[in-house]
Amino acid sequence: MKIFDLHCDTAGECYNEGISLFSNDLHLSIERASQYDEYTQLFAVWIPDKLRGNDAVEYFNNVADNFYKEIELHKDDISIYGDDRKTPVKAILTVEGGSACGGTIDGLKNLYKKGVRVITLTWNARNEIASGAFAEGGLSEFGKEFVRCAEELGIVLDVSHLNKQSFFEFAEFARKPFIASHSNADIVNNDYGRKRNLTKEQIDIIKNAKGLVGLNYYTEFIEDDEARGIDALCRQIDYFCEQGYEDIVALGSDYDGCRINEVLHGVEKLDEVYKELLNRGYTEDLLQKLFWKNADEFFKKII
Ligand SMILES: [Zn+2]
Repeated sequence: MKIFDLHCDTAGECYNEGISLFSNDLHLSIERASQYDEYTQLFAVWIPDKLRGNDAVEYFNNVADNFYKEIELHKDDISIYGDDRKTPVKAILTVEGGSACGGTIDGLKNLYKKGVRVITLTWNARNEIASGAFAEGGLSEFGKEFVRCAEELGIVLDVSHLNKQSFFEFAEFARKPFIASHSNADIVNNDYGRKRNLTKEQIDIIKNAKGLVGLNYYTEFIEDDEARGIDALCRQIDYFCEQGYEDIVALGSDYDGCRINEVLHGVEKLDEVYKELLNRGYTEDLLQKLFWKNADEFFKKII
């Protein structure tokens, strides 16, 4: 079984808590991810909304440097996606919150030089680029410059966390495929989840842009009185497949960035989810598309 996951906050957690990426009690460790035949993870550096300008740049550099140090320490077990080296786990460095560029295009170019290949434009608040799900406003003039430059550099833009106005303005302006790395379908009866979940119109736009949607396991985004735990995640997968989105759906756990139901709590639990989906009549072929292949094919073209 192969896994490709579009979002986790484990790199920041390791930096902030001073713990190992290889062996830990977090949702994700290299050691536990290595049980799968192949495991690729997008590791985000999450930029808290209180950080802007140089503070955001500095924080990004600290987390990224620590992340590369961990990779060097465990180079037989983890390497950068696209490298020739064969390791059980492959990594792609990403940013959650475009303010990591410090509000400048030079800053954006530096992120690319540091190995960043995916950027979530905002977190929940407004930043120099656009507005997150809990703020007002759309794509700024600087945001347009940022988007065009990121596309030219070969950075994939990520619409998770954008508010509706920013999403539609960005989608109108974008020229390259983009993704929602950790967002679900808005089929959950839960007001908090609704702010972040994607409407059918949004998912259609991502599909037309040849992008991806990574399913987030966050309790608040998938659960309500009708479904919890694995049932709630399966309900999302059912929806995407029934609506004809089986070519764009992927995993976007949000490990170590949110509260996750005990039954999905940790990378080792994916085995159970996979078995449950087989029991429910999904074929191995389809499940491998959702768990790995859709995302792998997308990133192989770019990296
Ligand atoms: Zn997030």
